Amino acid sequence: MTDVPRRIWLARPQTGEAEIDEIRAVMQSGYLTQGPKVAEFEGLVAERIGAPHTFATTSATTALHLTLAALGIGPGDEVLVPDFTFPATANVVVQQGATPVLVDIDLATFAMDPADLARKATTRARAVMPVHPFGLPADMDPILEVATASGLAVIEDAACALGAEYHGRPVGVIGTAGCFSFHPRKSITTGEGGMIATGEDDVADRIKLLRSHGGVRQGGRFVFEDAGFNYRLSDILAAVGVAQMRKLDAMLRARRAVAALYDAALAGVTGVTIPTCPAGRTHTYQTYAVLLDPQIDRDAVIARLAADGIETTLGTYALHAQPFFARSLGCSPGDLPNSYRAFLSSLALPLHAGIGPEQVDEVVEALKAAIRSS
Ligand SMILES: *Cc1c(COP(=O)(O)O)cnc(C)c1O
Repeated sequence: MTDVPRRIWLARPQTGEAEIDEIRAVMQSGYLTQGPKVAEFEGLVAERIGAPHTFATTSATTALHLTLAALGIGPGDEVLVPDFTFPATANVVVQQGATPVLVDIDLATFAMDPADLARKATTRARAVMPVHPFGLPADMDPILEVATASGLAVIEDAACALGAEYHGRPVGVIGTAGCFSFHPRKSITTGEGGMIATGEDDVADRIKLLRSHGGVRQGGRFVFEDAGFNYRLSDILAAVGVAQMRKLDAMLRARRAVAALYDAALAGVTGVTIPTCPAGRTHTYQTYAVLLDPQIDRDAVIARLAADGIETTLGTYALHAQPFFARSLGCSPGDLPNSYRAFLSSLALPLHAGIGPEQVDEVVEALKAAIRSS
């Protein structure tokens, strides 16, 4: 098959003159590593979500890793993670020498199932890392109940969810700590980047120390108190983040408007379940992921749409069905049935500022045709 040019892209970042102006100012300042722009960016996010402390990092992956390290999670500890997520959520647990324990999801929301969490929280468990899948807040109240009963730290993987709320509380400040991503497919972007929010002063002190080599400044030099990382964000990238934060609400409004168009156009389409947003939660629609009926060959649908120039992809991964986790945790495909079903049948549709009613209609008509012929 010849490659058909992509006409309708899955995602496109919204960057332009405002970001370039901010970068230019940093370039001219002569200060390029973590400095005043990072502080400004951290302040904007802190203010937005009401976080007592925020720390910019090089990615959400390093944000999550740094948080686990700051909490002292290591060998012998278990960390509960949802099975249906980008592997970074669990990889950082492995990097700390701890053991990820995979928790199944609720198929309606794609989020961690609190009942399965309760079943799997052993006495070795130290933390739970709920993911807010595709920008929809996980059901935090029952998760917090389990965490309190079992003495677990709660680290929100809010990579997709900057700007989402759960019963009036911004995600990222509901648990012990929350981590955001600024990858180009997330709410706002810095190219690569991440941020940790926390309300706990002692955790914040450890994050601050470990983010920059474990060094404490004393009289013009450093004293190294721990074996830290260099997970600092550059002021050049923070400049992009500052410009993006000014657009956050407009970009979220635009994403929700496209999602509403899809909801309307897909209502009643046979074989397609549209995403839900339970009462009391707001969704960022980082991804608009539908669930296809099980008899539909999702990968054939992706290929058919690609042949029409429409880019789509799977929702995300079932960790237990990936070779590394299958091997190291001893699982087989289907062991976590809801996650496996979501891995096989979820489909992410194009959603960005260039998608309007015409593109939505085109995508939906092409999707219906692809389903009919699958
Ligand atoms: C994107 C994503 C990550 C990783 O974010 P990076 O900034 O690319 O490291 C982690 N978890 C989830 C749920 C994600 O969607």
